[in-house]
Amino acid sequence: MRFHARILTTGVPLPPAGGELRRLYLFQEGTSALKRARKLYGQSLRAITVRADRGLLDLPPTYIEFLSRSSASQTIVERLLFSYRDFQDKVLVQDDDRNLAERLARQALDVSISAFNFLEDDILSMAAHDLFHEIGAYVGGMFGCELEADKEGVYWNRCAVSLAHRRYGFSVGMSHDVLCSVCHEDIDDCKHFLGRTYPTEVTKTVEGKCGACGRIECAHETGSIVEIYSQPVLSGPALREVTVTPRPRDPLARLDAVEIATSSLIETLGQDPAGKKLRCTCCLEPCPGFIETSSIIERLGDGANKRVDS
Ligand SMILES: [Zn+2]
Ligand SMILES: [Zn+2]
Ligand SMILES: [Zn+2]
Ligand SMILES: [Zn+2]
Repeated sequence: MRFHARILTTGVPLPPAGGELRRLYLFQEGTSALKRARKLYGQSLRAITVRADRGLLDLPPTYIEFLSRSSASQTIVERLLFSYRDFQDKVLVQDDDRNLAERLARQALDVSISAFNFLEDDILSMAAHDLFHEIGAYVGGMFGCELEADKEGVYWNRCAVSLAHRRYGFSVGMSHDVLCSVCHEDIDDCKHFLGRTYPTEVTKTVEGKCGACGRIECAHETGSIVEIYSQPVLSGPALREVTVTPRPRDPLARLDAVEIATSSLIETLGQDPAGKKLRCTCCLEPCPGFIETSSIIERLGDGANKRVDS
C-alpha cells in the first residue's frame, strides 16, 4: 500500500514540542485558519450566486441541513447531488464566476482542514469539523470530487474530507552536525565562545561557498579579514526516519493521497473502473467517524465510498 504525505512544513517555524507554548501556538494558528476558511468559503458562495435571482438564498441546503432531514446515507448523497444539479440548471453560472468560486472553495476546504488539525485537542475542533464537512459537501456537490487514475492505472484517494478523518500524521527524525560558524569544526570541540565575534580570514571552498557567511554569491573577498559572529550552524542534514503518530510535531504533516487497491474498487463497484473517472462520495456522506493510528494498517487500502461517474 502506497501513500503520499507531507512530512514537514518548511519555511515556517516548527511548532513548540509541548507544554503551554504549544497549546497557545496551536490555538493561535487554528483560530486564524478557521477565520480564513470561513472568509474564503463566503467569498466562494458569493461568486457562485452573483447572478442568481435570490442570491445566496438560491443555494441548496447545507450539509448539516441535509443531515438533519434524512437518515439514510444513500438518500442524502442522491438528494445532495440532485439539488446541486438543480441549482446549476436554474442559475446560469458564467465560467469566470464558476472558476473563481471553485478555486476559493477548494482553498477554503484545505484551510478548514488545517484549522481542524491545529485545533484537534481544543473545544473548537467541533466547529472546525462541522465547517470542513460543510465546505467539503459544497465542493463535492457543486464542483465534484473525482478520483483519477495515475499513469499506471492506479486510483488514489485525494479527497481532503476523507483523508482528514485519518487521525494520524508523520514526525521526522533527522540527524545533522552542528558546526561553529567561525572555524566550521564541531561546535563542542572548538575554542570559540557562542555569541562573540572573532576576526577571521575569509576562505572559499572549491564550490565557491564563502567561509564567512556560507553563501555562494556574497560580497566577502577571499583573504580579507572580517568579524564573524560565533553561532551554531546545522550541516549535513539527513532524514533518518519517519514515524506515524497520532499527534505529529508539525500538525499539518499528514496524508495527501492514499492508493486504492484495484481489487477493493472492483468489489465495491461490481466492475473494473479501468480508465474511467470515479466520483468520490465520501465528502457528501454523513461523518464516518475517525480512524486512529492503531487501525491504519487494515484501513489504508479501503476502497469503499466510490462510484463510477456517469
Ligand atoms: Zn471527496
Ligand atoms: Zn569554532
Ligand atoms: Zn560571504
Ligand atoms: Zn467527520
